[in-house]
Amino acid sequence: MLSSAYYFLVLTCCATTALAHKSYDGYQVIRTRELRAEDEVENVLSLTEQNDYDFLTSPRVGSAVQILVGPEKTDALQSNLRTLGLFPEVLVQNVERALSLERKTYSSMKRRSRKSVSSDRYLNFDEIMAYVKTVAEMFPEIATIIDIGTSWEGRPMRLLKLSNGPGKNAVFMDSAIHAREWLGPLTLIHFIDQLTKNLQENQALLDANDWFFLLVANPDGYVYSWSEDRFWRKTRKPNNGSDCIGTDPNRNFDYLWKEANDDVCTQHYSGSEPFSEPECAAISKFILENTKITLYLAMHSYGQLILLPWVVEKNQTVSSDNKLESVAKEAQRALAAVNGTQYSVGTTTQVLGYVAHGTSFDWAFAKAGIQLSYTMELSPKWNGQVVEANFILDPARIPVVKAESWEAVKVFVSHLPETRVNV
Ligand SMILES: [Zn+2]
Repeated sequence: MLSSAYYFLVLTCCATTALAHKSYDGYQVIRTRELRAEDEVENVLSLTEQNDYDFLTSPRVGSAVQILVGPEKTDALQSNLRTLGLFPEVLVQNVERALSLERKTYSSMKRRSRKSVSSDRYLNFDEIMAYVKTVAEMFPEIATIIDIGTSWEGRPMRLLKLSNGPGKNAVFMDSAIHAREWLGPLTLIHFIDQLTKNLQENQALLDANDWFFLLVANPDGYVYSWSEDRFWRKTRKPNNGSDCIGTDPNRNFDYLWKEANDDVCTQHYSGSEPFSEPECAAISKFILENTKITLYLAMHSYGQLILLPWVVEKNQTVSSDNKLESVAKEAQRALAAVNGTQYSVGTTTQVLGYVAHGTSFDWAFAKAGIQLSYTMELSPKWNGQVVEANFILDPARIPVVKAESWEAVKVFVSHLPETRVNV
C-alpha cells in the first residue's frame, strides 16, 4: 500500500507538472553538417531571422548547427538546408520525449539528494536562493548576501560575496543570464563550495581576492524555463505593441548596442534601448560602482568555448600587452588536464564567425575597463557525439564539468588585474 500511495503521489506531481509545461511534442532538433566557409555561415544566419527556428547553437565555421523546430516547420527547414547543401539530419526525433526523460531523471535525483544543499542535479530558483541563504548562515564570517536589484517581476538579483578582509580586488561571475542554461548555476555553486566547505584546500584563493557570484542573472526567465517553457532564453518583460515577451539580456548591454532590425519575437531581440531590462541595468550599476572588480566571467552553455572580447568589432584586436588570450589559453590547458576536454579559445568572431551587439562581457571590457573579461560556454561541444538535446546534459557529466571549470577559474583568478583601465 505504501508503495502504491507513493507512486500515486509521484504520478500526480509529474502529471501536473507536465500539463503546466509548454509541450514540445513533435518538435525536432535538426543538425546540419559542419559549416566550412563564411558564406555558409552567412546563409544559415539568414535563417536565424525567422522566428520559427530556435538556434540551439550559433552558426560558425568548423561546426555543425543545431536548430529546434516545431512540427509544422520541420519539412520547410530541412528543405531549406538541403538547398544550401548542408545535409540536415534529425538529431532529436521528439523533443518532448527528451524533456520528459529530463523531468523524470530530475525527480529521481531530487528524491535521492533531498538532504544535501548542493548536488549534481539542476536546481530551481528557490533551491538556488535557499542554497545561497544556507551558505551565508553557515559561513557568516566570509559570506554576505547582496541584492543588487530586482527583476521585472520583482525577484531578487541576489549576489553572494565571499571575502575574508577589506580592500581586495574581486572577480564577478554570473550565470543563467540566458534562462535555459541551467548548467551555469551548478558550476558557480561548485566554486562557492570550494571556497567555503572546502576552504582548507583553497584558503589562498580567498586570501588573494574577493568573489562575487550572481547565480541567476535572469531570475524571471529562469523560473519560466522551469515552470512553462524549458527552452526559454530571454527576460520576461513585455514589449510594447507585441504579444512576444522578453529581451535577450546578453544583447541589452550598453556597448555598441544595436537596435534590432529583426522583430521583438526573435530569440536575440536586443530590447527597446540599452539597459531596458532591469536585470542588465542592475548588473552594470553594481560593476561600475564596485571598481575593485577587475575580472568578469559570464557562464553560458553550451559549446566548450572560452570567448574573448570583442564580440562586436569584427576586425578589432586588443593591444599586444593585453593578457586576455594568453590567460585564456592557460585556463584551457588547466581545464583539459582534468579529463581531456578540449575547449576552443578566441574572440567570438574568430571562434563563432559572427558579430553580436550589446553583450555583457564586451560591455565589461570596453565600458567598465575590466581587462580580463570572458564568456565560457560550458559542455557539451557542438560536434560531440551527443544524441540528446544539448541543454539536457547527461547528469553523469555534471561533476566533470564542474571540476573542469573550477580549474579554469583558478587560472583566471591567478591573473586578476591590479586595476581597471580608464575608458
Ligand atoms: Zn547563453
